[in-house]
Amino acid sequence: MKKTCVITGGSSGIGLSIVKLFIENDYQVFNLDLSPGTEGDFRQCDVTNLEQVSEIIHDIASQHNIDVLVSNAGVHFSATIENTSEADLDKVFAINVKGAYAAIKSVLPNMKANKQGAIILMASDQALIAKQNSFAYNLSKTALASIAKTTALDYAAFNIRANAVCPGTIETPLYHQAIDNYCQKSGSDKAAVHLEEEKLQPLQRLGQPEEVAELVLFLASDKAKFITGSLQVIDGGYTAQ
Ligand code: NAD
Repeated sequence: MKKTCVITGGSSGIGLSIVKLFIENDYQVFNLDLSPGTEGDFRQCDVTNLEQVSEIIHDIASQHNIDVLVSNAGVHFSATIENTSEADLDKVFAINVKGAYAAIKSVLPNMKANKQGAIILMASDQALIAKQNSFAYNLSKTALASIAKTTALDYAAFNIRANAVCPGTIETPLYHQAIDNYCQKSGSDKAAVHLEEEKLQPLQRLGQPEEVAELVLFLASDKAKFITGSLQVIDGGYTAQ
């Protein structure tokens, strides 16, 4: 029988690569995203709408044992604390943090009943280090690392594991949007900024979404059955510097 994976934000970038890899590995994948996805079983969902997240996940859980949750939907936001309005902060938190809260809270009754489950949160290297001009995003990703740890501790007795993946700079639409915004504000040349970004990485290149998907698949599998409450860095050496 196929295993079941629920993912948020599976229509683009890292999430899309995760959906593809899980399908290749015989999972049935439900993708909860704002925008339609090309792969998996798409359920239109705004993760900031806690009631909607709960309804969709309860509907899936009424027919499937949910083996894996990947809480991946997220947005980037570049600004210092002074340039971050309360509305900006609320928006980043509503998507990046409360979206994860809603998804995890909704899958737990099903996972508890089945006495098993793997929860993977898409944090960031910014859960471990700070980057300039990234107040709200940094804060949100640090919060996700905390959610992984508290969930791991509170649900270990139910054989539910929770881990956070901490990618460095990965070449996705979100990355390109962040670079575009930066170039628009600073008047910099995009190709030059991209090259500079690659040079900042010890491995001299950006990560690819498929590489992050492989780590998520591993964490979801029985091969990782003793790994819980951890922060898994995948950043080409960036945070080792
Ligand atoms: P992306 O923009 O390519 O994909 C994000 C997906 O989330 C999109 O499909 C989007 O529609 C969806 N989404 C956004 N808001 C939503 C909402 N309110 N409800 C439902 N879905 C919503 O981005 P990505 O680069 O693939 O990023 C995925 C995750 O990885 C994010 O949490 C991001 O913070 C994290 N991350 C990315 C990088 C990177 O360099 N790209 C690095 C570290 C962490």
